[in-house]
Amino acid sequence: MKRTILIHYHEINLKGNNRGWFETCLERHVARLLGGLETASIRRFAGRLLVELTADSPTGEITRRLEKVFGVANFIVAREVPAELEDIEAELALLVSSTRFHSFKMDCRRGTKEFPLDSQQLNRRLGAFVQERTGAEVRMEGAEAVFGLEIVKGRAFLYLSRIQGAGGLPSGSGGKVLCLLSGGIDSPVAAWRMMRRGCRVHHVHFHSYPHTTVESQEKVRRLLGILSRFQLESTLWMVPFAEVQREIVAYAPPALRVVLYRRFMVRIAEAVARNEKTAALVTGDSLGQVASQTLDNIRTISAAATMPIFRPLIGDDKEGIIRIARAIGTYETSIQADQDCCSLFIPRHPETAADPEKAERAESGLDVAHLVENAMAGAARETISADFARGPDPGPPDD
Ligand code: ATP
Ligand code: MG
Repeated sequence: MKRTILIHYHEINLKGNNRGWFETCLERHVARLLGGLETASIRRFAGRLLVELTADSPTGEITRRLEKVFGVANFIVAREVPAELEDIEAELALLVSSTRFHSFKMDCRRGTKEFPLDSQQLNRRLGAFVQERTGAEVRMEGAEAVFGLEIVKGRAFLYLSRIQGAGGLPSGSGGKVLCLLSGGIDSPVAAWRMMRRGCRVHHVHFHSYPHTTVESQEKVRRLLGILSRFQLESTLWMVPFAEVQREIVAYAPPALRVVLYRRFMVRIAEAVARNEKTAALVTGDSLGQVASQTLDNIRTISAAATMPIFRPLIGDDKEGIIRIARAIGTYETSIQADQDCCSLFIPRHPETAADPEKAERAESGLDVAHLVENAMAGAARETISADFARGPDPGPPDD
């Protein structure tokens, strides 16, 4: 008997000619993800990905990491034997004797046709085998134990549970985007959504040090460590924003400050995006959530951009966003107190219906190009690695 993990693809199965590309991205990602952990091999096998384990493989850690791999529908941690009825029954007997249950069902799948019994015949035959040995009741709904069997190309995989994958598309298959990452709840979820669609997400954070604390920057690094569990490593640009804010406060109408902050963030983010060769920007905006996120303000902010801005949370409500934040493990960090630069110098009644012309007039006293250049000159580029050790473990996202 060998211990093996068999990974089933998610949407990749719907792909036509470019399926190979998606498989390559997934295989590469899994190989890097498990790189530091003991495994015998990782390879493609009959439209699946196969991870062979050794006696020393840390199965629990491997499983936890695989739960965060996009492009995976589900996977099984299996005991592998040759696809011969005798071998299968002998291994099933061992599995049954080490499992406590009063009711059970069989879930057999014949993935390739060369085995003489089909899935239904296998279910009946092995169901009778288990019943004979244990006297347990067969139950189709609510069984205490489900014994799974998958037969693929001369190999049989026996398992007790099928683990839900993260869905989506493999990391790196969808191009590169740049996320404007604050320390809040929303933008990490927006970044995660884009990662789930296969994007490699780079990040930019604006800080107003010394008006805001270095702890706020640390918090963003921690958040990105958690988010990087889904893509292993992330680029983070830390950009000083105090000068831009001082100029806006000095020369533009107070009601427009937040919208103007955002327009500058977008411009500076585009300069970062050009450096990183990313094709689009991503923000955590959700329509109407706060004053800066009215339709008019969003339009006015977008008018400062030349690249597409993706807002994957635009139609989500806060409860739904929080649910995802909890599931992906960012929530607990996001709610820790911080000082976002955008909360500085904000009037009691910010504009909720800005228009691009008004914003341009307000910016006419500012040297836009110079401010963007200066911010870029002070920017620092960092690489943040996946933090597998710290923070709550993600549960399965349910959206
Ligand atoms: P979040 O929870 O993501 O902070 P929010 O509800 O607090 O969102 P805003 O503060 O209005 O909303 O920010 C809207 C979006 O602008 C954020 O989701 C983020 O993409 C971007 N943003 C805001 N502040 C910053 C910052 N300091 N650095 C980078 N991006 C930011
Ligand atoms: Mg915020």
